[in-house]
Amino acid sequence: MIEFEHVSKSFSGLDAVKDLSLNLREGAFSVLVGTSGSGKSTTLKMINRLVEHDSGIIRFAGEEIRQQPVLEMRRRMGYAIQSIGLFPHWTVAQNIATVPQLQKWSRGKIDQRIEELMALLGLEPALRERYPHQLSGGQQQRVGVARALAANPEVLLMDEPFGALDPVTRAALQQEMSRIHRLLGRTIVLVTHDIDEALRLADHLVLMDGGEVIQQGTPLEILSHPHNEFVRTFFGSSE
Ligand code: ADP
Ligand code: MG
Repeated sequence: MIEFEHVSKSFSGLDAVKDLSLNLREGAFSVLVGTSGSGKSTTLKMINRLVEHDSGIIRFAGEEIRQQPVLEMRRRMGYAIQSIGLFPHWTVAQNIATVPQLQKWSRGKIDQRIEELMALLGLEPALRERYPHQLSGGQQQRVGVARALAANPEVLLMDEPFGALDPVTRAALQQEMSRIHRLLGRTIVLVTHDIDEALRLADHLVLMDGGEVIQQGTPLEILSHPHNEFVRTFFGSSE
């Protein structure tokens, strides 16, 4: 679904991503994990071209991303991140409807979609006309994920989506994401520095450090056959 071949990116001479090769399968829950500054967010943003890569090739659904009209491609990808919050002066319903509205869906279809997504994310119907500041952190994150899913994207890209939450809410949302993934079978790429979260959610785990892939595979493969001392130490604390 998403392939990287020898992709590199530097910012003013400093390598953020170096010679990265990845194959993120359709339908898989892929997780990029690594410490802060390891190049995870840059990698994710290169997929939807919020960051343009310097060299190498990135393909989405078999086609090089630079050959595709960028807006059309982004419409096929949902993007949820921790720091870009919801539109503060829009209600929950209006926030979720952002992309369907841009795509000029009918009012009836949009209303139905909002209802479906709120149910899917465990948001009570009564929250529909609330504003973001009237929601808990966990509810806001759920609305963010609902918004990213609204127009049925083929891929869901998520950057530390549960970062700011308390451990209990975080665990609840992780379970929710696993359930949604099983239910929809959608391709998900999630970035996190949280090792437990990565191990819990990933079908395909990619450990990054210094802009490079150190090891990738299923969590079980990586835990049972760490390639080197770095991998052993990185995951050691959570075993
Ligand atoms: P992570 O998400 O793993 O924390 P990032 O991909 O955000 O890592 O960053 C990787 C490296 O690239 C870091 O050294 C960071 O400072 C640098 N970097 C990321 N984005 C920019 C930018 N827009 N301008 C300059 N440097 C950047
Ligand atoms: Mg990051």
